[in-house]
Amino acid sequence: MLRRFLRASARESAAALRGDPGMPRDEIARRHALCRSDACGQYLALDDRCAECGCSVAKKVAWRTAECPLGHWKALTPIHIAEDRRPPP
Ligand code: SF4
Repeated sequence: MLRRFLRASARESAAALRGDPGMPRDEIARRHALCRSDACGQYLALDDRCAECGCSVAKKVAWRTAECPLGHWKALTPIHIAEDRRPPP
């Protein structure tokens, strides 16, 4: 989980350094509402956390490069997530 967080953080930092547009508030709210609806069955309401990836949902939905690991919402900025999904060597 730490490695996944560090990669996500690096992607978000790179997007900020490139000057990619920030997240619109309405998109943050839309993503958060999707998570809170628990259509995925992975939303942990007690601590606002995603059971699938372990992330804090409030933080995850505010990152332009983040995306739902189950495809319920997409990143605003193109990202390279394939490295996160590669099987271990
Ligand atoms: S990020 Fe995706 S899997 Fe996680 S709580 Fe939100 S909708 Fe569910």
